Amino acid sequence: MNAEGAALGLRLRERDVTAAPAALNLLESTAPADLEQAAELLQAVSPAALGGEAPGHVIGVTGPPGAGKSTLLSALLHAWRASGRTAAVLAVDPSSRRSGGSLLGDRARIEFDPADRGTLIRSMAAEQRLGGLARATRISAEALAAAFDVVVIETVGVGQSETDVADVVDTVALVVQPGSGDVLQFLKSGIMETPDVLVVTKADLGQIAMRARRDLGAALRSLGSSRARVLAVSALAPASGIDELALALDEHREGLDIGGHRVRARRAGALNDFLVEHGERGMRALGGRRAAETLLAEQDPGADVQALMAALERRMA
Ligand code: GDP
Repeated sequence: MNAEGAALGLRLRERDVTAAPAALNLLESTAPADLEQAAELLQAVSPAALGGEAPGHVIGVTGPPGAGKSTLLSALLHAWRASGRTAAVLAVDPSSRRSGGSLLGDRARIEFDPADRGTLIRSMAAEQRLGGLARATRISAEALAAAFDVVVIETVGVGQSETDVADVVDTVALVVQPGSGDVLQFLKSGIMETPDVLVVTKADLGQIAMRARRDLGAALRSLGSSRARVLAVSALAPASGIDELALALDEHREGLDIGGHRVRARRAGALNDFLVEHGERGMRALGGRRAAETLLAEQDPGADVQALMAALERRMA
C-alpha cells in the first residue's frame, strides 16, 4: 500500500470520516514503505498542525470479559449517532496477536449499521509489551480524534487495563457486572487506578445490580475519590441509563483541562515508547528518568509523541 499520508491526514483534519479506514490501514502497517507516509499522516493531525488539541473525546472503556462492554457500546453508539455525533471504536483484542500482518481471532460483536459512515469499528491486536497500549492503538486514536466526535478504546481486563489506557484517553470508564467482588477488592486495595466513571451493567437484574452500585460507590468514597461517578445501566431492550451514561462521560470531559491532560499524556507516551525501544540502558544514557522528564517538559506542548521521542533520542546520541 502506498497511500498518501498527508492527504489522508488533511481529510481527517477536515473531519472527513470516510478517510478513516485507509488512515487506519496506513497507521497499522509495518511495511517500511508505509512508515514515512504514516509519519506524514500523524504530522497532519498533530496539535501543531491542528492549532490545538484534536476535538474528539477519547474514552477508554475497559472491564472483564462478559461484563457487557460490547452490548453497552452498541447502545452507546446508537445514542451518540441519534444525537448526530460520529463515533469510532478501537477494540483491543487480547487474544489476537499479529501473525504475518493479519489479525487472528478477530472479534466484532458490537452491533452497528454497516452502511453508516459515521460509525467505525476496528479490532486491534494487543501487542505484548511492557505495559501501556500498543503504539498502533495510540496513534490510531490520535488520528481518529481529529475527525470523529467520540473515539472509544475498548480494552479487556481489570486491574492493569485502566492504567494502560489512562495515558491515552481523556476519560476512563470501567465496566463491571453485578456481583463482581474482584473489582471491589481491586478498587479497595488501591491496585487499580481509579476510573473516572464506573458502570454497573445488567441493571435489569435488579437488587444485585443496585447492591453492586452501592458497594462500588462506598469503596470510591472510602478512597476519597468523590469525583468518580457510579452508574447502573441496562443495555438490553428496554435499555435504561444509557443517556445518563453518555451525559456523565460528557461532563467528565467538560471538567477536564484537556490541554494540560493531553500534554501530560503525550509526554508519558513518549517516555513509555522510549523505554520499550531503548530499555533501562537508554534511560541511563539520558541521565535517568528525572532528566528525561525534565527534557520532555522543555519541549513544545503541541509536540506529538513522535517528536518527543525524537527529542529524547537526540539527547541520547
Ligand atoms: P463483553 O465481553 O464485556 O463485551 O460482554 P458482552 O457485551 O458480550 O455481554 C456478555 C453477556 O452479558 C451477553 O450474554 C449479553 O447478552 C449479556 N448482557 C449484556 N448487557 C446486559 C444487560 O444489560 N442485561 C442483561 N441481563 N444481560 C446483559
